[in-house]
Order: sequence, then structure tokens, then C-alpha cells
Amino acid sequence: MSSSAPPRFQSRIDHHRSLKEAKKLSSTHEQDPSAWTTDDAKELYMIDRWGRGYFDVGSEGKISVSPLQERGSKISILDVVEAAREQGLRTPLLIRFQDLLHHRVRTLNEAFIRAIADVKYRGVYRGVFPIKVNQLKEVVEEILEAGKTYHYGLEVGSKPELFAGLSVHTDNESLIICNGYKDENFIRTAMIGRKLGKKVLLVAEKLSEVRTITRVAREMNVEPMVGLRVRLMTEGAGKWASSGGEHAKFGLSTAEILAACNILAEAGMSASFKLLHFHIGSQVPDILIVKRAVREATRHYAKLRKMGHKIEYMDVGGGLAIDYDGSRSTFHSSMNYSVEEYARDIVHNIADICDDEKVPHPNIVSESGRAIVAHHSVLVVQAFGSIEKTPVTPIDIQAEEHKLIQTLLETRDNLTASNLAESWHDILQVKEESQKMFELGLLNLDVKARVETLYWENAEKMALLAASLSEEEAPEDVVQLRTQLADQYICNFSVFQSLLDHWALGSLFPVVPIHRLNERPAADSTLVDITCDSEGKVSKFIDLSDVRDTLPLHGLNGEEPYYLGIFLTGAYQDIMGDIHNLFGRVNEVHVFLDSDEECGYYIEETIAGNQIREVLGLTQYDTPGLIARVKAQVDGAIKQDLLKPTEGMRLLADYERGLKDQTYLSF
Ligand SMILES: *Cc1c(COP(=O)(O)O)cnc(C)c1O
Repeated sequence: MSSSAPPRFQSRIDHHRSLKEAKKLSSTHEQDPSAWTTDDAKELYMIDRWGRGYFDVGSEGKISVSPLQERGSKISILDVVEAAREQGLRTPLLIRFQDLLHHRVRTLNEAFIRAIADVKYRGVYRGVFPIKVNQLKEVVEEILEAGKTYHYGLEVGSKPELFAGLSVHTDNESLIICNGYKDENFIRTAMIGRKLGKKVLLVAEKLSEVRTITRVAREMNVEPMVGLRVRLMTEGAGKWASSGGEHAKFGLSTAEILAACNILAEAGMSASFKLLHFHIGSQVPDILIVKRAVREATRHYAKLRKMGHKIEYMDVGGGLAIDYDGSRSTFHSSMNYSVEEYARDIVHNIADICDDEKVPHPNIVSESGRAIVAHHSVLVVQAFGSIEKTPVTPIDIQAEEHKLIQTLLETRDNLTASNLAESWHDILQVKEESQKMFELGLLNLDVKARVETLYWENAEKMALLAASLSEEEAPEDVVQLRTQLADQYICNFSVFQSLLDHWALGSLFPVVPIHRLNERPAADSTLVDITCDSEGKVSKFIDLSDVRDTLPLHGLNGEEPYYLGIFLTGAYQDIMGDIHNLFGRVNEVHVFLDSDEECGYYIEETIAGNQIREVLGLTQYDTPGLIARVKAQVDGAIKQDLLKPTEGMRLLADYERGLKDQTYLSF
């Protein structure tokens, strides 16, 4: 059909422009296609939905944080990144907003206090923070400080956590709840707390623990406080559903609870049974499940109370969710309720069952971790390059082109909505045929390169066309091309260190550029990290009704850094990360609001990330040993005249200095 000289290829830049035009036209129809405001960015990235009043976009297109929501000042995240840079800390950078922790602690406690007042509940709320969700000393201390007036306590799940908890806990009105399997040292350490006048509750996971508790308590001459974890039939939902239900790893069956009561009675310690506990798993997206679990557990409490056990506390565990995707649904990354509704439903349902059974209202304990810390930290990473499928530079078409190439050219030039599906199948066939020919040695590299280039150019044109068609008209496989065509942005971080739940569990976190939000994003992208693991990527993103495969991002402007914020990463990610590829802890700054400062805040602490020598030390390469071995090799090279002595010493000094560099890339 096109026997005359084929038109020159459009450049990648032109393609981008045309892709942008098409998207604008398909998404905003009548409106001025060039208009793009920060409100559009807020809507696109759903910032108001997951941001909950903590995150916003300023008129200059930068994301701001309001750690106290509308009551405090706003901090631009980019400003913090630049201030940290001046202090020598580059990205990847973890920023903690300590005032946000205060706000979360107050929000949770006030919600329970209000619910208790509304229902005229006759017990108090004594929340505890589960250290495992973020053990960092500054975080735990900040939370305890914020919770002082509420007698907010701690939950620990292991010996190290108990040792840490005992040291930072000072308010003897607040609780220390000990969950998890326990040995004698664990129990003895808890008794030290009892001797110091603390309300340390040992929640038994097994009958044998109850026996050990009674024996150690007698030996140490202390009155223990014992809790029992009941295994409910109600199962959680979402990714942590197996924490509950009859096959759960933890908890006592009804028969075991009665047996535990007998063990305590035989030891003369019946009065030590103070708390009934349950935990149906983390991130429970559906409030109906919370209610059902609370009602089931309260029945246990009521029946035990009627048997004469003067249990003082009902502990509803963790599970209070975070709306990571802002959809307010029962999807695993969301929740269909608020903190206030959570508190009201717990208080109301415990009261309802207790009134029905005519037993006293117990004090209420909850162990919310995720809901306290998720919002407070933001990870900022730099996207420093991209991997593109389509060619960056145009290629010349020669007069006598290979037959495969001619087919691709014709397909491209004659593409219409009505032959879209057929054209798509044509180019697929060309691609397959060229691969076969290459494997048989019948195709030269230059022809193969042209086929690939033209294939992707066709694909991009088809994806554009499909995007402009209605859902019924567009062939499904062409629509999905868009994901395949997405650029991959290379980001200076490790998913395994900083975003483990995304890799391990498919958890979703909001990812948004922290600047340039007054510019329309240019193209759909996915993110890859700098580990040499193909799993080190982010290719699932939040969406209102589903999961997105790509994220709209701006083009990279030469040397100007492009920063992405990964939000709601304060829960679990910090400590679960590992040093895959020996990428260590990232740089960290702690930010406090301060109205005396011109910018409204100050950086209270900076913590440099791991140096190369530190992560090597964790894998038995001690620094002196490393240097000694390299020195021996340098000496050998000098002896063999491969190096001059001065040069050898300079290389050794470079090696030594390099060991103090950060594990991540420096630009
Ligand atoms: C992990 C855990 C928690 C914290 O759960 P969140 O969903 O993060 O609030 C609370 N209690 C127990 C027993 C846990 O194991």
C-alpha cells in the first residue's frame, strides 16, 4: 500500500506529546486541555481520601504535612528534604513527624473516652501501644509522652520487647501487656515489673505458661497479674485473617480456659486472673467482624464473671485498620469505618452483653499499633532514570526493507479503530515470526532492532487509539498494553529494606511525587528499586475501585532531582526490612512543629543510615580484616611491579574511605 518512501519516524518526544494529548482529550473532554491545577493532582492521587487531613498540596505543587490536622501549621516535605540535604543526609530519607504521633494517640484515646461517656459505660479505657509495630525508642517514648494523661501503656510480644518496655515505662497506672510465648526468663522479668509496682499482665498463650507463672510468682513472692487469650470462632478478614478462628496459632480453647482457672485456683491465685484477651489479626477492614468478635469474647467474659472470676479488663487486641487506598471499603487495603465508630462499637457491644448478662462492665484495653504509627512517617526516594520500551531516537527507513518491517510499517500507517484488533494480531505475529527467524540465524541484529522498534511504536499507537474508544469497542488485550508500555522509573531505595509488606504481602501504599503537582503528569509508570532482584519493584498502586498497575508520573528533567513520597509507612516497615543486597537502613530525620521557627518546624534529630562497613560487619566482614586483606593484595601488586608504591597506598586509602560511604547510590 505504501510503496512510496515511508514517512520518518516520530521521535519519542512527539509520541509522549501525542499520548498526553490523547489522555487529556479522553479524560477532560470539553475543558481546556492544558489546564491542570493542584486540585487535579489531589484528585488523581486521592490525597484527601487517604491523607485524612494530614496531607495536602500547596499552590506551588508541593505536598505538605499538617501533623495536627487543621489545628497546626503545615510543613512542606520538599523543604524538609532540602534541609536534611544541607545537613548531609540525602535520599532515601525517612521523615518522622513526631507531632503526628501525638495526634494519633489523642485521637484514639479521645474516641474511647467519648464513647464511654455517650454509653454511660462504667469502666475506663486503658489502651496500650504494641511495640512490635515500631520499636524505635524515640517513637515509643513520643507515644508514651502523648498518652500520659490517658495512662496509655505498652504491649510487648517477646523478651527483648519486654526489656525495652520496662525501661521506658514510668506511669504505674498504665498497663504493660505481655503477649506471645513465654519462657521462665520472660516471666521473671515481668515479675521485676510487678515488684516495681507496675501493672504487668502476663497473657498466657498455653496452659504450661500458667503453671510456670504460678511457680515463679511463688518463688519471687509476688502477686502476678494474669490474662488469658481466648481463641474465638470469629475470623478476621483480609491478609491477616488466620490470626483468629479455631485454627489460630494463639489462644486457649474454652476447655483450656477452664483448666487454666483450675491451675490458678490450685495455686491459690484465682484473684490473679485479671484480663481476658483476643486478637483477630491486623488490618481488619470490616467493622462487622470487629463487632462479632467483641460480642463473642464478651460472652466468655460474662460467663467467667458469673463463675466468680473477678476479671477487670477486656482486651480487644489490635486490628484497627488504616485506609491505605482511601476507598473506605472492605478491600484489604482499606476499612469501612472510622476510629470513632470503632471505639463506639466496642464500648456499646461490651456494655450490651454485660447488661444482658448482668455482670459489671470491665475496663477496656485495645492494642492498636498500625492505627497509631502508620501516618507518621514518609519515605522519600529519588527517581533518577527510566527504562523505556519505545526508542528514544528515530531510525531511518531504508528503501529495501525486510518483509517483516514492511508489514509493520503498513500496519502502522493504516491503523483505524475498525481494524484495531486485527492490526494488533498482525504485529503479534510479526514479533513471533521475527523471534523464530532470529533463533534460526536468519535475522541480523539491525533488522531485529528495527522490528522491535516498530513493534513498540505500533503498540503505543494502538494503546492510544484503544484509550480513546469506549469500553465496549476497545479490545481488552490492547487496553492492557498500556501497562506493558509503562516506563519503569528507577528509584534509589530497596523494597526489601523499606517496603517489605509490598513485596511479601502485596500491601498497597500511596506513592505520590512530593513536588511538581502543579504540572500534569506525562506518562504511566511503574517503579523499580536498585537491588538486583527482579522482585524489587512497585507495580501495584492504590485505586478507588481496584488496584492500578501503573502510576502517572512527570517526565525527568535532566539533572533536576525528582522525588517520590511513599506514604503511610510508619507501621511495621521500619523493623521488618532486611539488608538484601546489603542495602542498609536509610537516613532518617525527626521533625517537630515549633511556632518560634520561621519555617514552623525544626529537625530535632538526624540519624545517618548504615555505612558500607556497618552492613559488612553484620555479615562477618570486620573493617580491619577487610583493609588488611586488600592491603596484602596491594603489597603483592607492588612487589610484582603492577603498581607503584604511592599509587598503591592511594588506592588503599580510597578503599578505606569508600567503606564509610552510604550503601545507597549518591548523586
Ligand atoms: C500485632 C499485634 C497487635 C497490633 O495489631 P495492629 O493491627 O497493628 O493494631 C496487637 N495485639 C497483638 C496480640 C498483636 O500480635
